[in-house]
Amino acid sequence: MVTEYESALEVAERLNRLTPGEFEKRTGLFSTGAEAVENAVKIARTWTGRDAIVVLGHAYHGRTLLTMTMTGKNVPYKEGFGPFAPEVYRVPSPYPYRWAGAATTETGIAEEAFEQLVDQITTQVGTANVAAIIVEPVQGEGGFIVLPEGYMTKVAQFAKENGIVFIADEIQAGLARTGDLFAVDHEGVVPDIVLTAKALAAGMPLSAVTGRAEIMDSVRAGGLGGTYAGNPVACAAAIAALDVIVDEDLPGRARHIEEVVMPRLKELQAECAAIGDVRGRGAMLAMEFVVPGTRTPDPDAAKKVAAHANARGVLTLTAGTYSNVIRLLPPLVISDDLLEDALDVLAEATRTLA
Ligand SMILES: *Cc1c(COP(=O)(O)O)cnc(C)c1O
Repeated sequence: MVTEYESALEVAERLNRLTPGEFEKRTGLFSTGAEAVENAVKIARTWTGRDAIVVLGHAYHGRTLLTMTMTGKNVPYKEGFGPFAPEVYRVPSPYPYRWAGAATTETGIAEEAFEQLVDQITTQVGTANVAAIIVEPVQGEGGFIVLPEGYMTKVAQFAKENGIVFIADEIQAGLARTGDLFAVDHEGVVPDIVLTAKALAAGMPLSAVTGRAEIMDSVRAGGLGGTYAGNPVACAAAIAALDVIVDEDLPGRARHIEEVVMPRLKELQAECAAIGDVRGRGAMLAMEFVVPGTRTPDPDAAKKVAAHANARGVLTLTAGTYSNVIRLLPPLVISDDLLEDALDVLAEATRTLA
């Protein structure tokens, strides 16, 4: 952090080039995803001179004081860890499978959720007090909820009209996972700030905040940093990882994985009444478990299937606000044989519910 070095500059230049938007950008490098979120909030507050941060239901943004406040799920992320950070406001997530409004189509749900966002911001917070709206384009820990098409476009437009910084938390969904380099690309949304981590350095601790130059430059020199921020080893890993992601067309691989996995998940859903929903995009796919014939979450079913698969060498993670979702995050470089093998194990695991 004392002086610039080649590998950090290289990572920053690449992210400036790869992230959506044809404008001048800056990238700040940090160590964890939560740190990237925290710093994005600091930057948005400095730029706007405002305090309020708007987040979605079912959001996950990390485990530090501010980011756990921004996270939607109480147990295990928040219980006992309060009091929480002030000036964080939550609006409903357009979660298609569990949408409580009148709409039943994706477009309708996007519209209703957007109306609620506008209503809550204008009546409860005050538009002129909002520094940033931050969304995960596909909500990760919340249960692989794909924000319905049109929602982010509307939110980004609303943010723009009101001087609010629109931040995409692409820490889980970004960098090829959903079949585009960034999940916002699917809808052609251009955020003011994009956050990356996780895949960025293929598991080495590196995160990044990439955004419009004028917004990023509003923080005075020395305002952001950290002992390990952008460490050279992690930067070297990021350069190698970004080479693979781009040169080996990993977004294309993610789309291929969806083509292989989605039909198999749909088959499983047809034969297993406990699978209420299958969803996701690219190689970010999930099954939501419910009590058959209802939408009542069944976390035990998800746990049982995950345990059965894990015992047979297929590592799955449960997720979701109700802990009833099994998420699949296969390596983007997985072979088709291994993928089919894993799906067979998963099929066998879901049959144990019958
Ligand atoms: C994992 C994650 C974070 C936090 O990243 P850490 O490196 O664990 O601090 C933030 N946002 C999203 C969407 C994540 O998936």
